[in-house]
Amino acid sequence: MASYDDDNIFAKILRKEIPSFKVYEDDKTYCFMDIMPRAEGHCLVIPKSPCRNMLDASPAQLADCLATVQKVANACLRAFGADGITVQQFNEAAGGQEVFHLHYHILPRHEGEKLRPPG
Ligand code: C5P
Repeated sequence: MASYDDDNIFAKILRKEIPSFKVYEDDKTYCFMDIMPRAEGHCLVIPKSPCRNMLDASPAQLADCLATVQKVANACLRAFGADGITVQQFNEAAGGQEVFHLHYHILPRHEGEKLRPPG
């Protein structure tokens, strides 16, 4: 597996070199809106420390991210009146990953509604 590249887009978001719409932040994690949402309220949770994906993540990075995923998912249920939440996470290009900094998609879902194509 390739090593972590500090020039990936999410590393730049964390350094505030490119803008993002913040949803939640604590000392270990950051959550922001996805720029090509597949559902109303689609957002991403990332660790602040470098990590390519779940395959090289430490147990602490995984635990910190999932604690934030749970918080944001519950907030999304209330904020968007969602009936459920899909959490997605991709590892390496063959696994569907496009940005190589660990991230979890949080997708609020409504009964009977399909996920939109990105955009
Ligand atoms: O497939 P993967 O989970 O790696 O996709 C990366 C996600 O990051 C996409 O949903 C894309 O819309 C999002 N993204 C973003 N802001 C950027 C670049 C990508 O929200 N500046």
